[in-house]
Amino acid sequence: MKVQLLPSSFEPDGAISQRQHLSCLIIDDCVAFDAGSLAFSCSDRHRANVRDVFISHTHLDHIAGLPIFIDDLFAVVAEPVRVHATLEMIEVLQRDIFNWSVYPRFSELENSVGPVIEFKPFEPGRPVSVKHLTFHPVEVNHNETSVGALVSDGRASIGITGDTTHTNGIWSVFQLCKDLKAVMVECAFPDELADLAAASRHLTPSGLSRELEKFGRYDIPVYVINIKPTYRNEVVYQLQRLGISNLNVLEIGRDHEF
Ligand SMILES: [Zn+2]
Repeated sequence: MKVQLLPSSFEPDGAISQRQHLSCLIIDDCVAFDAGSLAFSCSDRHRANVRDVFISHTHLDHIAGLPIFIDDLFAVVAEPVRVHATLEMIEVLQRDIFNWSVYPRFSELENSVGPVIEFKPFEPGRPVSVKHLTFHPVEVNHNETSVGALVSDGRASIGITGDTTHTNGIWSVFQLCKDLKAVMVECAFPDELADLAAASRHLTPSGLSRELEKFGRYDIPVYVINIKPTYRNEVVYQLQRLGISNLNVLEIGRDHEF
């Protein structure tokens, strides 16, 4: 399985920045897990192939690119962009984003071929097929409806927590997976901002180490994503200080094979 965390921004010399403002993982060049930077930094191959977007929750840094992506592709898509989300998330997207005020209600428009967006509801705990992949969504502890997922292609699986603070169910789902190759977990804030992390339901390095004790699989590589860019250096330093050998920060903008 091939996974890339899309860049959010670029350095003045054009190099990919490792500062992550937005969240979008592209799996096997054709399925997006969240859509934060989807339209802004995806390749032409992604633009041509991504027609399925799985949403973990509706915070702006995870959906910002979705309306722009559909806008970009409006005239050229031969099939609708399928948005996989819970009913609550779909309601938020339609009410607060695709409401004609913020952006067009694309579900009421068609191009010369047909619809350009299709909402595909899923329920936490019930696996869903997305292209050649199976997503097993599991509720996590973040905003009203937030899920992480175990993503499998039949040979390998990866676990993605999405945004979360201390949570329980997802670790046992990851633990029980026999072909688990990697886990991606958030760690937004440094330890000195533990109060802010708790209020906004995110993790700090110390909180993450307690979560990894629940996971208990120190043989599986764990990659940190979703570090708030302002605190990136402190968080990376504090993660290294934990001395957990299977814990690394995921490099942004590079294909990772699992
Ligand atoms: Zn969030």
